[in-house]
Amino acid sequence: MQAEIIAIGTELTSGEKLDTNSQWLSLQLADLGIPVLFHTTVADSMAANLQALQLAVERTDVVLITGGLGPTLDDLTRDVLAQLAGVDLELDAASLSQLEDFFRGRGRTMPERNRIQAMFPQGSLPLLNPIGTAPGVWMELPRAGRNPCLIAAMPGVPSEMYRMFFEQVRPRLPGGQRIIRRARINCFGIGESQTEELLGELTARGRDPEVGITAHEATITLRIVANGATEEECQQKIAAVSREARERLGDNVYGVEDEKLEDVVLKLLHERGETITTIEVATGGQMAGRFYSASERLQQRDIVKGSLVLTTGLDGLAQAAQLRQQETGADYVLAIGPESTDLTQDRPTTVIDILLLGHGQTKQHSLTWNGNPAIRITRAAKTALDMVRHRLLDASR
Ligand code: AMP
Ligand code: MG
Repeated sequence: MQAEIIAIGTELTSGEKLDTNSQWLSLQLADLGIPVLFHTTVADSMAANLQALQLAVERTDVVLITGGLGPTLDDLTRDVLAQLAGVDLELDAASLSQLEDFFRGRGRTMPERNRIQAMFPQGSLPLLNPIGTAPGVWMELPRAGRNPCLIAAMPGVPSEMYRMFFEQVRPRLPGGQRIIRRARINCFGIGESQTEELLGELTARGRDPEVGITAHEATITLRIVANGATEEECQQKIAAVSREARERLGDNVYGVEDEKLEDVVLKLLHERGETITTIEVATGGQMAGRFYSASERLQQRDIVKGSLVLTTGLDGLAQAAQLRQQETGADYVLAIGPESTDLTQDRPTTVIDILLLGHGQTKQHSLTWNGNPAIRITRAAKTALDMVRHRLLDASR
């Protein structure tokens, strides 16, 4: 069983508004184990709508539509569904009285124009909209030699659509009773393919739980999806695969869910009752910004003893770091020097020196990077944070 999502509205195809409904619905269908094969966005045009729907009904078994259910002339979804099924629109008395109640509740009489919202293709089912005027439409369209195609048309207004989907559409879809739970494990220090190698069969397709690997600005995220009849069953599956993944990836795993490297560094410093200060040139304040946001999130404002951002180079990172430690009294100084480019390599290579000073020990690392230049600065900041993380992990062992 596969699905297509159709977003209707000229405001979407013209680029004035972004279709966020389809993204949301895809995530919901994934939770039901129904893969989405197509997203189609179509203008408020009868011919284009009909074409899109005919195609969708032909190539998928579940079609979710949003938009075009309003009372105005450009709202065509009802007519298109009637044409698709080759039936007429008929008035649904219950929907009409709900519409009248809706307007009465707001101290108004229902405009005649809204009557169209109580008209449904023969053989379809109205879907109640408790927070707006436009009811939705549920239709099971017969197909020769195949199961009927399940079609739901919902309002374009996101809040109305969310509620209608949860209350009326999801329970009618196959798998609507199953539970899906997700978890994320975050890693730094290894690449995507190396991660996959280490995880081996855990990432094989079609396994339950499923483990997917995504990379974003040098951070690797394992996305775990577990399927089960109960919450407990899902959580047990997630715990088992997480344990196995952590064993294989070791200290490259730094956190879970939304945790960032800087959050973990602050937590480790907090546990040890220690403080840090930063000096940075190449990263232009990114390190300071990361620490600042993390200390807000974790309410740990005293751990970072000031951040120095320099726009020009330094004469000697080590001396600057020592001076900084004397000035601030911080336990650690994390310093990122200026960026230089090594042109002697095959490809221009960025070199950034990172230095970590603390408890009389200095660790120096020269980051070299010839990959995507757009992420070199973030990579430098994250590499520096990861140096501190490893140092603190070692010290706590
Ligand atoms: P409609 O149901 O077509 O009258 O749409 C009502 C309003 O919902 C539109 O003016 C948009 O602001 C919003 N809307 C419609 N479709 C979408 C969509 N696919 N994603 C996000 N917002 C939408
Ligand atoms: Mg519209």
